[in-house]
Amino acid sequence: MRGKGKDPRETMAEKRDFYEVLGVDKNADNAALKKAFREMAKKYHPDTHPGDKEAEEKFKEASEAYAILSDPEKRQQYDQFGMAAFENGGGGGAGAGGFDFGGMDFSDIFGDLFGFGGGRTRQTYNGPMQGEDVRTSVRITFEEAIFGVDKEITISQKDECTSCHGTGAKAGTTPETCPKCNGKGQVVYTSQSFFGTVQNVTTCPDCHGTGKIIKHKCPDCSGTGFTSSKKKIAVSIPAGIDNGQMVRLRGKGEPGTRGGGRGDLLVQVIVGTSPKFARQDMDIFYQQDISFAQAALGSEVRIPTVDGDVIYTVRPGTQPGTRVRLKGKGVPSLRNKNVRGDQYVTLNVAVPTRLSDEAKEALRAYDLAAGDSLGKAERDAAPAEKESTSSEAGKTAGEKNSSENHKGKKTIFDKIKENFTE
Ligand SMILES: [Zn+2]
Ligand SMILES: [Zn+2]
Repeated sequence: MRGKGKDPRETMAEKRDFYEVLGVDKNADNAALKKAFREMAKKYHPDTHPGDKEAEEKFKEASEAYAILSDPEKRQQYDQFGMAAFENGGGGGAGAGGFDFGGMDFSDIFGDLFGFGGGRTRQTYNGPMQGEDVRTSVRITFEEAIFGVDKEITISQKDECTSCHGTGAKAGTTPETCPKCNGKGQVVYTSQSFFGTVQNVTTCPDCHGTGKIIKHKCPDCSGTGFTSSKKKIAVSIPAGIDNGQMVRLRGKGEPGTRGGGRGDLLVQVIVGTSPKFARQDMDIFYQQDISFAQAALGSEVRIPTVDGDVIYTVRPGTQPGTRVRLKGKGVPSLRNKNVRGDQYVTLNVAVPTRLSDEAKEALRAYDLAAGDSLGKAERDAAPAEKESTSSEAGKTAGEKNSSENHKGKKTIFDKIKENFTE
């Protein structure tokens, strides 16, 4: 066992300062550390220097420095205590200076460097923080969703306080560096355990992690650094938007802190229903009533679309439930408003519930001319009545019908299916 001096750095005399190793200054942020390490790693990576002991040592040294400095907690411990911070319980100076590589995750940086995986850099502690996103919603009509609309919404928006410029300190005063944590925002508690000295890092209770103490609070923002006010914000809603979709307004969210940018405003669009139309994605559905005469004889009918009425020619003999497609009368694509869905129209043959005497008379006359369906039962029953009772005759007719159905004659269900394939 080697002896330990009072200054832990003395015993680690062979170890260079981590900042020196990476060639960065003490205030370097994570991005600068990463950049410096990438350069070192590229230069000395063992894969590019097989068998080169010196390069391997340099690479190890840089990796170790980066592993410590890129971790906010470890960096703070290193800044305060030097290498001693990592020797506790680490095997009493055995091996590579008491530093344990086990459990270190380099996939982040190596992913970036060598092109596999790749991860995010952690938010630099005390560095700029982007503001939070803010969510709100807006209601629009069915038609507005199809053609797009500009809306103005009113939201309560946070801004940096103009009196204190976001510091939260009363005019003429400045926030002071928190004496408890020396502005670091974190405090390290040391305790003894079976394994040695344990260091617990927690958010500073005095400054709540900001590193600053405001003695005289700004009266306009109560020391928060922010004020809220009602703001009108223009939202351009694109044609083709669907219910529940989101419009993102960059930089309209909450202000950032320590120089970070504003978050975004996320506006959820709630689309109203239409009394006429139904919508599914880019297609519109509509039910068009036509009269029996229109269906039988064929006719021009006006069909409403979101672009206004179109004249559609119903063919003679059109069956109830026939579907027709009006191309390009649907909803525009969000990506390209020149691309549009279709409108599907179901033609319903409407049966009148009220008829004038004149119309009834004409309909009876028509029926007689078209084969007298109204007198059919009477005619069919007439010969049967001579041989059997009317109830038996009814039974016979029913049996006859059902046997015909099973002989391959098309059922009503087949007809429905046919109509929907049109
Ligand atoms: Zn203020
Ligand atoms: Zn503090």
